[in-house]
Amino acid sequence: MPADVSAPRARLCLPLLALVALLFSACEGADDEDLEDGDASTSPHGPAPEGLGDDLTALLTYAVVGSGELGATTLHDAPDDLQDQQEDAPVHRRIWALARTIFASQIRWVHAFVVFTDGPDETLASVFQIHGEPAQWALAVDIADALDANGDVGGTDFTYTLVHELGHIIALNADQIPVDPELAANPEDPDLLDEKRAACSTFFIEEGCTRPEAFLNTYYEQFWSDLDEASAQIEDIDDDAAREDAIEAFYEANPDRFVTAYAASNITEDFAESWSYFVLRAEPEGDAEKDAKVLYFYDYPVLVAAREDILSSGAMTGMSALERGLRAPHPRRHRR
Ligand SMILES: [Zn+2]
Repeated sequence: MPADVSAPRARLCLPLLALVALLFSACEGADDEDLEDGDASTSPHGPAPEGLGDDLTALLTYAVVGSGELGATTLHDAPDDLQDQQEDAPVHRRIWALARTIFASQIRWVHAFVVFTDGPDETLASVFQIHGEPAQWALAVDIADALDANGDVGGTDFTYTLVHELGHIIALNADQIPVDPELAANPEDPDLLDEKRAACSTFFIEEGCTRPEAFLNTYYEQFWSDLDEASAQIEDIDDDAAREDAIEAFYEANPDRFVTAYAASNITEDFAESWSYFVLRAEPEGDAEKDAKVLYFYDYPVLVAAREDILSSGAMTGMSALERGLRAPHPRRHRR
């Protein structure tokens, strides 16, 4: 029986705070080139979205409407020194333009764009299910990490992280894992999780029971059936530093099995990291398991098409290190 090897939902996906009821008012003029100043003074205030970590400061949330246009905004309480970043609508829109391009193949799942910060580095971006709407996802980005030294949106780490986050949406959307209303309403109930896991004949994760043909289920069967027990023990370590040390040791004991050390965190991070290598690097020629994990994605024409669309979009122009080897998002704290 597949074990649940992922982190608890609230950690995976940035904090799942109640994303305020977003006003999905149409905003026809909000295309990518529309960099006019936002009128933040007229936006309603609301609590930080549930799902964004308590250690991150939410600045504002845009509803994402239609085929990825930005709609109504909700301002979140933020200290005065972050007001400039909160009100910098032109930068928000440039960040969204990059994210929308990278997420194009999965944009139908993304219903909110959250701008947050924890200062430079640490968490760069995350995705999480919108509270009360588990088939809808929020993409959250740290505005402090989105600009490179030239003031351009992008850069290797940030762009890499967006591709990584896209991998989570590919694996966890409701077409892959049908929404289980009971689980969605009681995400922290261990007895319910045990009950649902026992009733699931495929790979089980907090979001629910994967379809037989789901990416995570086939990825589990090919690469994780002998790893989940060791990984689950690591995930049970409460102390963050000790757990990160254990993940590093797990990677160093299995360097041919993971594309990065961060991939050794759990199957969802492994999937997102292998996906990122699939998108951003040439087809591997080796025969190590980490190469097989990248080659796995070439078996799915829909993913090959998504890769080609990203690479031909111009979204990668900020990735100066592309051909010299990628830096993984490893030491930064990172939720799904
Ligand atoms: Zn992740």
